[in-house]
Amino acid sequence: MIDKPIIQVNQLYKHFGKNDVLNGVNFTVNKGDVISIIGPSGCGKSTLLRCINRLEKPSGGEILFNGEPLFKNSRFFMKKQLAKLDKGSEEYKSLKKEIALKKKEEVKLENKILKELNKHRKRIGMVFQNFNLFPHRTVIENITMGPISLNKIPKEQAEEQAMQLLEKVGLKEKAYCYPNTLSGGQKQRIAIVRALAMNPEIMLFDEHTSARDPEMVGEVLNVIADLAKSGITMLVVTHEMGFAKNVSNKTVFMADGLICEEGSPSEIFNNPKHERLKEFLSKLM
Ligand code: ADP
Ligand code: MG
Repeated sequence: MIDKPIIQVNQLYKHFGKNDVLNGVNFTVNKGDVISIIGPSGCGKSTLLRCINRLEKPSGGEILFNGEPLFKNSRFFMKKQLAKLDKGSEEYKSLKKEIALKKKEEVKLENKILKELNKHRKRIGMVFQNFNLFPHRTVIENITMGPISLNKIPKEQAEEQAMQLLEKVGLKEKAYCYPNTLSGGQKQRIAIVRALAMNPEIMLFDEHTSARDPEMVGEVLNVIADLAKSGITMLVVTHEMGFAKNVSNKTVFMADGLICEEGSPSEIFNNPKHERLKEFLSKLM
């Protein structure tokens, strides 16, 4: 039997006021995929990740996590359809009725999803652009808080696991330090460990857009590359084309809130088809 995709995004739309940011994104993540998402600044990469984790509420479409809805709104499309119809027509009236019925159903579903959001979020690890470690907690406290309180793992076991993960990223000796004593790259690695400690089914990474010290980018990408080898499913927004080429099994190019082109890194980088992708790549050279 073929596993269900871990994440399935169907016709996802998101607008902030008049700003249409996602314009019908379709996208599948299968178990073991390491997908790099590339594209010009402002094309909606971060918004897509934030929608998947429900930090942002999409406007329309559907997100499934292991086949279960994390978001569903089909009224968005029905309303667009409605706007095209003649107000007096039978079609208009019947569609309007249908929308009202859908609303009942989908609002009920949304409430259920919101109630279970913490359950879902435990299974989706996200490493943010800003590391948001708790400054008044030590590194190990930052890492074990989630496993202890959300996964109900005994403190000793959580600490043991945290130490193992810290060792993997070369930061065991920082366990009892406070975040403000760490470098940027170290904080980012701790943020990765904190997400991993929850034992998620998928990890979402959103890389900084601002130019940072390349050493830090390197140290963080090395950790992510190691994770990729370990088989964990990942979605990585990145500005490092080397990383996309060498680490991911699939690269997705976004432009204007849409997935313009996707394929193996070699297809995307060596044989780009879409004009926007060609332009994007030529600017990088
Ligand atoms: P990317 O990560 O590809 O650079 P983003 O997803 O961060 O792009 O942003 C896409 C667009 O959405 C931008 O125009 C940005 O200004 C807008 N945007 C993102 N988040 C918000 C928000 N919380 N409120 C209003 N506009 C936002
Ligand atoms: Mg971004």
